[in-house]
Amino acid sequence: MEWFKRVTPGLEAQTKKELPDGLWIKCDRCGQILYKKELDRNQLVCTGCGFHFRMDSGQYAALLADEGSFEEFNAAISSADPLNFKDSKKYADRLRDAMAKTGLKEAVITGEGTLGGIPVVLAIMDFRFIGGSMGSVVGEKISRAIDRAIETRRPLLILSASGGARMQEGALSLMQMAKTSAKLALLAEAGIPFLSILTDPTAGGTTASFSMLGDVIVAEPGAFIGFAGPRVIKQTIGQDLPEGFQRAEFVQDHGFVDMIVDRRELKQHLERILGWFVGPVRKKPRRAASKPKIKAESGLDTDSGLEPALPAQAEGEAAPLASAETSPAAGKKAQAAPKRKPAAKSAAGAGPSTVKSTKAAPKRKPAAKKSNHPKPASEV
Ligand SMILES: [Zn+2]
Repeated sequence: MEWFKRVTPGLEAQTKKELPDGLWIKCDRCGQILYKKELDRNQLVCTGCGFHFRMDSGQYAALLADEGSFEEFNAAISSADPLNFKDSKKYADRLRDAMAKTGLKEAVITGEGTLGGIPVVLAIMDFRFIGGSMGSVVGEKISRAIDRAIETRRPLLILSASGGARMQEGALSLMQMAKTSAKLALLAEAGIPFLSILTDPTAGGTTASFSMLGDVIVAEPGAFIGFAGPRVIKQTIGQDLPEGFQRAEFVQDHGFVDMIVDRRELKQHLERILGWFVGPVRKKPRRAASKPKIKAESGLDTDSGLEPALPAQAEGEAAPLASAETSPAAGKKAQAAPKRKPAAKSAAGAGPSTVKSTKAAPKRKPAAKKSNHPKPASEV
């Protein structure tokens, strides 16, 4: 059938004028064409409609941690392939491709850093790495991050971006739900706050474990948050689902999320929330200080033992800090002092009315929540 083929070259298709790759991006929601650099400056939030594009773990680390403060740990752990699993592709190949594509070893990065001057432990998932799926390594890295938070008494932040458990590791991936949840129980016992940040998407095994166990759960606008996907649910219950089903706003209305925060304000909000937890501790030194009012800076003992993390680096705070530390017995509390910084900020800062009211009952809030924790998990 020679005549089916074009033997001699005919008209050549006009070559498109090539735009430099990735210079412009079309918004998935409103269709506006956005200039990439401007979008980057805007933390990947559409300037037209506020749509939140997905960010990778490196971008989130840069967004949340104070500049230059983030130090990754356990970076080298990578998945084995215990089941020698193969679906349309070998699991080993999938892993290799994901590593090559992302430059990461796994779907989460963990590390220490400061956020608004407050030392924290961060675990940030990366959806690009096999859908942010949770296999044994993700579970292990998060567990170790929790251990680190307990050891150093730093508040823990976990940012979720995950499609669920990693099928290719079978039951081993499912075990990570129990493992991380149990570790978080230890964290709660140690009295260390855990803030969970939900981004698009937070689904499956993560939703069924650590993502929903935060003392405070913050979500990005429009993020998909759920266990099973809408299609599965629809088929199962045989009904149409309400509009906005399983989006952050819907989930918040139903009590699973505490607040929805625009990414451009995420850091300030987290800083303020951390201040709530750290705040009460800070007050004690104040009282102590009011009695003795003695020393100034002698005791900037970052090594006061238990809470090296909390003392932090506020500069203007030197005075209150030090005075707090004067009361020797109150070594720990002294450290609490730095927290004053965030607290003060929040009072002065952005969200005045809400903040104050919430602030009034800072201790209560986490406490109340903890009691709730089991619920979401089991309900899911
Ligand atoms: Zn848009």
